[in-house]
Amino acid sequence: MKKIGVLTSGGDAPGMNAAVRAVVRKALYHDLEVAGIYYGYQGLIDGQIESLDRGSVGDIIQRGGTKLHSARCLEFKTEEGQLKAIEQLKKHGIEGLVVIGGDGSYQGALALTKRGFPCVGVPGTIDNDIPGTDYTIGFDTALNTVIDCIDKIRDTATSHERTFIIEVMGRDAGDLALWAGLAGGAETILIPEVQHDLDELVTRLEQGYDRGKKHSIIIVAEGVMSASDLAKKLSEKDIETRVSVLGHIQRGGSPTARDRVLASTFAARAVELLIENRGGLAVGMRNHVVVDYDLEEAFKKERNTDLSMYTLSKELSI
Ligand code: ADP
Repeated sequence: MKKIGVLTSGGDAPGMNAAVRAVVRKALYHDLEVAGIYYGYQGLIDGQIESLDRGSVGDIIQRGGTKLHSARCLEFKTEEGQLKAIEQLKKHGIEGLVVIGGDGSYQGALALTKRGFPCVGVPGTIDNDIPGTDYTIGFDTALNTVIDCIDKIRDTATSHERTFIIEVMGRDAGDLALWAGLAGGAETILIPEVQHDLDELVTRLEQGYDRGKKHSIIIVAEGVMSASDLAKKLSEKDIETRVSVLGHIQRGGSPTARDRVLASTFAARAVELLIENRGGLAVGMRNHVVVDYDLEEAFKKERNTDLSMYTLSKELSI
């Protein structure tokens, strides 16, 4: 392999830049050329491709977002789009591709690999929703952003003795809500992985008020329902709340040290796999060890959300 490509795709995540930097530097270290593909699969189809040298990825390790930009591309889901992409890769002399993104991006990487073009997936998403890896790049940064917001909301919740509902991202996964809820000391956490009971929630809130709690923080994962829908349901039970939807603030910001380290180690492993001509794989972390596994596993395997954290958060929020 003489030249590899790298792209970021789907929803952006803090740490993607650190991963791009590591792909480029690791490849150059092994005397490979690197092509940066801008705007994900759309840019690949359109040929928005540029050589990346050592300096082109300087000063980005600390930046959120992605220097390569990201885009959603429906055309790439079609056979025609994928063949156009392969044509571009061949035209630019690219022999392997590192795809940094979430499960949609992995589907694209798998499709290209099945057409004979080796791709390796690097998990980049704040949702932490990719089976086969304990962590994805961006999750830790987003988590710390959410905790910072909870702490701030807690100040005003205490002053006014209010109940707040904070809606966090995560798509169909509850990891961000669960970790943030435990770390932020929330009274209640609603995640898609655990069936909730509105009456039980009301009882818990009322018992808390009776015990003298001055405020309550409810964290709701977007995969369960919107904060405003929950507020409506609680208001029907005579519980007044304030709503805060954190939104895209969770996707930005300088990556934490943990995300930078994760990004650097994942990306370096991806380059090593391509050097060994091993495509169709995803990189991940299991029990603190960097691993690689079949991309298909990322779609077939069940994700393991640590539900003991859910139980613990209930025990600690009495
Ligand atoms: P994420 O990677 O964050 O999950 P998306 O689901 O939007 O984000 O996927 C990113 C891109 O990956 C899509 O815009 C599309 O170009 C490509 N993609 C998604 N699903 C498929 C698929 N089934 N086959 C081929 N490409 C796909």
